[in-house]
Amino acid sequence: TQLDTLDIVVLSVILLATAAYFTKGKLWGVTKDPYANSFANTNGLKAGKTRNIIEKIEEAGKNCIIFYGSQTGTAEDYASRLAKEGKSRFGLETMVADLEDYDYDNLDQLPEDKVVFFVLATYGEGEPTDNAVDFYEFITGEDVSFSESADPPLGTLKYVTFGLGNNTYEHYNSMVRNVDKALTKLGAHRIGDAGEGDDGAGTMEEDFLAWKEPMWAALAKKMGLEEREAQYEPIFGIVEREGLTKESQEVYVGEPNKMHLEGAARGPFNAHNPYIAPIVESKEIFNVKDRNCLHMEVDISGSNLSYQTGDHIAIWPTNAGREVDYFLDILGLTEKRDTVVSVKALEPTAKVPFPTPTTFDAIARYHMEICAPISRQFVATLAAFAPDESSKAEMTKLGQDKDYFHEKVSKYHYNLAGLLRTVGGGQRWSNVPFSAFIEGLTKLQPRYYSISSSSAVQPKKISITAVVESQLIPGRADPFQGVATNYLLALKQKQNGEPNPKPYGLTYEICGPRNKYDGIHVPVHVRHSNFKLPSDPSKPIIMIGPGTGVAPFRGFVQERAKQAEDGESVGKTLLFFGCRKRSEDFMYESEWEERKRALGDAFEMPIAFSRDGPKKVYVQHLLKERSKEINELLEKKAYVYVCGDAANMAREVNTVLAQIISEQRGIPEAKAEEIVKNMRASNQYQEDVW
Ligand code: FAD
Repeated sequence: TQLDTLDIVVLSVILLATAAYFTKGKLWGVTKDPYANSFANTNGLKAGKTRNIIEKIEEAGKNCIIFYGSQTGTAEDYASRLAKEGKSRFGLETMVADLEDYDYDNLDQLPEDKVVFFVLATYGEGEPTDNAVDFYEFITGEDVSFSESADPPLGTLKYVTFGLGNNTYEHYNSMVRNVDKALTKLGAHRIGDAGEGDDGAGTMEEDFLAWKEPMWAALAKKMGLEEREAQYEPIFGIVEREGLTKESQEVYVGEPNKMHLEGAARGPFNAHNPYIAPIVESKEIFNVKDRNCLHMEVDISGSNLSYQTGDHIAIWPTNAGREVDYFLDILGLTEKRDTVVSVKALEPTAKVPFPTPTTFDAIARYHMEICAPISRQFVATLAAFAPDESSKAEMTKLGQDKDYFHEKVSKYHYNLAGLLRTVGGGQRWSNVPFSAFIEGLTKLQPRYYSISSSSAVQPKKISITAVVESQLIPGRADPFQGVATNYLLALKQKQNGEPNPKPYGLTYEICGPRNKYDGIHVPVHVRHSNFKLPSDPSKPIIMIGPGTGVAPFRGFVQERAKQAEDGESVGKTLLFFGCRKRSEDFMYESEWEERKRALGDAFEMPIAFSRDGPKKVYVQHLLKERSKEINELLEKKAYVYVCGDAANMAREVNTVLAQIISEQRGIPEAKAEEIVKNMRASNQYQEDVW
């Protein structure tokens, strides 16, 4: 084995620490296994940990807390990056903290020489992320109160904020805006601008990079910090565990937590603990060569999971074998792929994002987003470890120049291995400490799908309708392929005994860690949503769901049909659908016919085919054509549901609805927009968009 200096440093730190552990009994707050991490505690429950943030920072010697409210991992990733940068450039003693791990009623006691960051994503309809709900309710609450009753309560608190949002949503970045407002109202002092990143415009990373420089300058000034030459310091130590192999019982080879490792996965199943669910049926529902849409049925009867019509199912994907191979190869780790390693945070407040001991193969396959877009900042970090001077210069330039980065990297949808291979001409990047990848790549995220069945019809079987993500990219030999949907496609091919027919077929470890997913299983959990049918079935509903946006409406219509069959009176059920061509991608065509038999004239389904005639027709056009009827339904308090593309469709539907109301009722557009806004506020207008 070859070890570079950094690894040796890391290794020595760990050896020393381990020795310290055995001699003094306590180090890094470790009480049992020196390698254990939070995954030993199932379901993300952290037994015996303090929820007192002041106690925590004092114990850990920190002066800068970076809280995150994250749903898909990006906010968490930005928080880690800020922590790292604050430490390496300004010598701040930073720690990253999950908002759900602490209480906030003592924020007023935070010593004046500390600073708090809030990196906050806004989710869905202006909601806080799951882990930020309690904090948000506390800080924006009417009767927020703190342990000391100074006036103003947070007069000594210094804070920094950055929000992650999407401008295509009505409540753009409302989380960070509201928290910022609340903190200011409580007397706290913000340092720098309240940053906002926009995923809708696709500029999140650049917004973040542009915001952080002036913020650091302002913070340095305020706290009297001196900038220094940033030196890379690993946050995680990687120790090879001789004596363990991937067959050893205690080695994680992809299991998400300890219960799964021990073979007795029990509920509750949630975002920390997936259920390994059998797929009972899977099929293709498009009728065209180069595009795939999957229909799958996932059986949850063996679990205590439940769902309601309109909820989401999360699929925990596995990276494609080919991508895992590329990744390990370019890092020079192919031969060591099955080497067992333990990963230990060298920094008491950092969390190892996956359970160990594990193997490099399992880390790449099950735990890291090795295929995702690469952060430009991370490219700059990697420059220092390039295999030669010209690669180093190129990485530095890519790290500094946003246009150049776009031209060379983003445009081709390169992932990390693709970039490193291109820049280094295929040379191995074996100088990069592995910790850098754990820090620089997001942990592999579950993907959400709008459940396309009705829980009233099939309570223990969840349907998924997913379009397989595959794009030809000019200038690139192979197509870009999405992580989760191509994994689902492979599962479907395996289940139906099909050969992999795609020219760029990716290989997956279909059977999962220790063959636990064999017999076609997939790890899932359910996320409850507010996208719900009116409780009174006689209320009329208008659904707008082109493409896969029709997914939840398949469930809605299934449910209304059942209600009609059960003798209930069911109101108008109007579904606007759109696709390219009737013969190619008209999903569930025969099923709609059947529903029609149950629902009769109450069910209507106007369809916009964008490529079947001389003119492109979209759902918005069909809505316009039926202005009169739509307005009448709205006056009867019809519920409006929009699902699918957030960037264009959902926004246009919103505009068209306001136009319809304005024209039909003869009122000014501004007034009509106000009406639509109020419909949203009262849940009469609901969106499920992505
Ligand atoms: P990913 O690998 O995650 O890629 C997704 C996109 O990210 C790519 O198209 C590309 O734009 C970008 N990207 C990824 N890697 C790179 C790179 N290296 N360089 C540049 N760009 C990159 N989908 C459905 O089909 N049906 C549904 O019912 C459905 N419901 C949803 C409900 C909710 C609430 C949400 C949030 C999403 C829903 N989605 C649904 C979308 C779904 O969650 C996934 O985003 C989608 O299936 C793609 O996943 P993937 O892993 O295959 O693609």
